[in-house]
Amino acid sequence: MADDKQPVYILSEGNQRTYGKEAQRNNIMAAKLVAETVRSTLGPKGMDKMLVDSMGDVVITNDGVTILEEMQIEHPAAKMIVEIAKTQEDEVGDGTTSAVVFAGELLKNAESLLEKNIHPTIVAKGFRLAESKAQEILNEIAEDVSLDNEDILEKIAMTAMTGKGAEASKEKLAKLAVGAVKQVLDDNIDLNNIKVEKKVGGGVENSELIQGIVLDKEKLHSSMPSKINDAKIALISVPLEIKDTEIDAKIQITSPEQMQSFIEQEENMLRSMAQKVIDSGANVLISQKGIDDLAQHYLAKAGVYAVRRVKQSDMEKLIRATGGKIVSNLKDLSESDLGKSGLVEEVKIGDEEFTYVTNCENPKAVTFLVRGGTEHVVDEVERAIQDALGDLAAALKNGKVVGGAGAPEIELSKRLREFANTLSGREQLAVLAFAESMEAIPITLAENAGIDPIDILTELKARHDSGDKWAGIDVFSGKVVDSWSAGVIEPLKIKTQAIKSAAEVSEMILRIDDVIASGKGSGQAPMQPPMGYE
Ligand code: ADP
Ligand code: MG
Repeated sequence: MADDKQPVYILSEGNQRTYGKEAQRNNIMAAKLVAETVRSTLGPKGMDKMLVDSMGDVVITNDGVTILEEMQIEHPAAKMIVEIAKTQEDEVGDGTTSAVVFAGELLKNAESLLEKNIHPTIVAKGFRLAESKAQEILNEIAEDVSLDNEDILEKIAMTAMTGKGAEASKEKLAKLAVGAVKQVLDDNIDLNNIKVEKKVGGGVENSELIQGIVLDKEKLHSSMPSKINDAKIALISVPLEIKDTEIDAKIQITSPEQMQSFIEQEENMLRSMAQKVIDSGANVLISQKGIDDLAQHYLAKAGVYAVRRVKQSDMEKLIRATGGKIVSNLKDLSESDLGKSGLVEEVKIGDEEFTYVTNCENPKAVTFLVRGGTEHVVDEVERAIQDALGDLAAALKNGKVVGGAGAPEIELSKRLREFANTLSGREQLAVLAFAESMEAIPITLAENAGIDPIDILTELKARHDSGDKWAGIDVFSGKVVDSWSAGVIEPLKIKTQAIKSAAEVSEMILRIDDVIASGKGSGQAPMQPPMGYE
């Protein structure tokens, strides 16, 4: 039997352990801090952050997930919040800041309940009830959208880009984004088929949609043509080279004649490789692998435009854009494998050359060429466009959209309060806390726009009580507007996903009452008393 007064150690030295209320408080604090960090970037009037890494590289952004990824957060509970942003990014591509702000608010309100001695499992259960009710309500209030509603689709794209680096040209960019999504659409929408190529130079308004694929490659040989109309394109995944390393044969050359015949043999092989391409009827060759200088020369002589070492992902897009097939054995290359495009051309942008495979007939992969004055601008515009493309895909996939500008959150908060009234006891308090947390989005949108949140919230609630489900905040005028008619429209999925993952993570954090951090791998030895001390 152990002596009662003797402590029992079950963990090795160097481990850290916190439990009970302290562990909970720590975790909630960390989660709230993450939310606090991105809060000021929410909405059209949100500010940007400048992130500088250890190499001095700078990223300027307003994008929640980019900020959190660049910050390299360490605290385990804080990391769980960062995960929400990543899930949101993967599932929808937009709404990352909202998801994190909402999760922070849920935990903040949960903390008040814990202080009132409500057990964390009760809070978690209430949150789960509220979450599933919220999903139900959202589906009920959502509106339908389809491919034919071009106007709504453009508004979705514009809402995604409002307040981002793309602001000035968002109307044009929104049209391009809708065009791109429509073009690549088949049974489903795979955004991998929209290649977003960034190019510094010119202005954002010079961005364009290319009906095909833009490769950041120049033509291989100066005497190749720079422009080919009615291109017939061979797509190959084998080198037009003689690999001397593959076969480890010893060749003993004993006379100059022998050397000469050896060289001729190599030349003949390269010529016959190039000839196979030429014989197929191709006037463009795009290879995933290398093309030997001599083969380039033969191709150039036959007027073939060639590029080499093209990425696999681009090869796949080229298949979808040109209708060609990738051939892995030159012997098999025939006319039926060739892709087609109206034009293949070398284009110089700034001081870099690109190969445009364009004017494809009904291409199933296209290129969104993003332009802008500096690298920082181009990067931020690209993120805005990715948000817009993600939102369009999400909207078309489930065919449902909602008004934005804080409207759905206020409607949810109102209806969840009504739902709470049908419950009793402590769960009711948890559902009310969930309902209140929804208001964090409109409150933050107002705060970031310098609008008094209390006044506008009161007015918003009144408007929702009188049946205007899309009443939201016009962040530019500070007034309440009907977000739907104001054209602030978002896919339903942004909201359902954000609420789902925020609720899940808060429940998970609430259930933790013991944090055991192993000392291993931290690189820090436990503190030792200095020599001579006991
Ligand atoms: P997130 O990372 O959550 O997408 P954003 O900074 O993109 O963060 O802000 C999204 C919020 O801004 C949404 O609540 C959306 O409804 C709102 N919003 C977008 N455009 C407008 C607008 N023109 N007026 C008011 N609110 C808007
Ligand atoms: Mg957004």
